[in-house]
Amino acid sequence: MPTTSYWHRDNREHEVIVIGAGIAGLSASRELQRRGINHVVLERGVIGCGASTRNAGYLMRGAADNYAAACREFGRDTAKALWRWSENNLQALREAGIESLRSYQARPSCLLAVDDGEARELEESRTLLQEDGFEVGWHTEGADAAWTSGMARVGLVNPNDAVCNPAELIRWIAGPVFEHVRQGVEVESVDLKSSKVSIQTNAGEYRCERLLVCTNAFTESLLPEFRDRITPRRGQMLALDAPEVSLDCAYYINHGHEYIREAGDGVIALGGCRGLFADQEVGEDDTTTDNVQGALEDFAERLLGRRYPVLCRWAGTMGFSPTALPMICRIPSLEGHAWFCGGFTGHGMSLAHTTATAAVAQMLDESSCLFSRVS
Ligand SMILES: Cc1cc2nc3c(=O)[nH]c(=O)nc-3n(C[C@H](O)[C@H](O)[C@H](O)COP(=O)(O)OP(=O)(O)OC[C@H]3O[C@@H](n4cnc5c(N)ncnc54)[C@H](O)[C@@H]3O)c2cc1C
Repeated sequence: MPTTSYWHRDNREHEVIVIGAGIAGLSASRELQRRGINHVVLERGVIGCGASTRNAGYLMRGAADNYAAACREFGRDTAKALWRWSENNLQALREAGIESLRSYQARPSCLLAVDDGEARELEESRTLLQEDGFEVGWHTEGADAAWTSGMARVGLVNPNDAVCNPAELIRWIAGPVFEHVRQGVEVESVDLKSSKVSIQTNAGEYRCERLLVCTNAFTESLLPEFRDRITPRRGQMLALDAPEVSLDCAYYINHGHEYIREAGDGVIALGGCRGLFADQEVGEDDTTTDNVQGALEDFAERLLGRRYPVLCRWAGTMGFSPTALPMICRIPSLEGHAWFCGGFTGHGMSLAHTTATAAVAQMLDESSCLFSRVS
């Protein structure tokens, strides 16, 4: 039986405990640290081992689909607030120093229409965005590899977006709060005992006054009551060795179903094609599949004009919310002692930092924001 050294003994009682050390849990930890709150973050694997280091690294304005679609789905005021929220997310990261990362690049994102229907929606989006005071660019042609195949019709540009290597971002965001994170601690159950939250883990019991659950796609296994609230969906990507391909923007194509960008050092990162196999791309299993990987390679060939060698293939699990909006809510079974923050619906790098900061404010100050739900 392995023993635990005196130096590894951990304080088991804290004012706040966060579960999950992805971008959301680590951002919450930074806000808790700023407020001087005694807390730990419990992570079953290693820092960032969930979706937060498996994504495409777009720090992008907006949400899953274009602005016109969002105005129809959420109402114009909510869509506008969501777009501002994502701008604020990047601004907050910039103020915290993200521009010092080696992999950070100010890089416009471009929603690229590949059929007439989407082209009309992007045109409508451009008008609505301008009316709502957003800066927006418009391309009808381009000189880079995304335009040479002739697939692209028009492109709507978010001029102030950025990209990064998400693994570097997570190391950076974890840096100042590393002392608070307990890696390899899997939470098995949470319960209320004598007005405190009792957290059973593979390393024994922890207790806290308030709990913030940032397990996103993996929440249902811990909290079955989240079965209908957060749906785990798999996203797959690959990296191509394509030194002669240049892409001026981080492209978001076919309503965001496919995305492609330069990843530095002659590598192109590409993801998506889950819509073609939507029934299979659900659940927490983050292995790759031949059909999605094959579709990604075909897509890259159509867009870039030839097949390039694949350097790496991977998958990650995203947490989708029922409304496609991020969620901050109380966890009803823990009666006012616990909150959930997640449901970024594929856009957590662009939304989670600000949302998790707001979740801490809601938990500690009872303040609410656009994404607060009653329960
Ligand atoms: C292929 C792909 C591409 C994407 N591209 C982009 C993009 O370009 N831009 C963008 O904005 N978003 C993108 N996303 C989405 C983004 O990655 C996620 O929204 C974001 O990382 C979610 O962060 P999180 O902290 O909420 O969850 P996660 O990073 O998944 O973190 C949850 C953590 O909880 C831990 N955990 C779970 N259960 C337990 C437990 N019982 N005990 C202890 N710990 C537990 C997990 O190990 C994990 O580390 C993409 C996602 C994928 C998969």
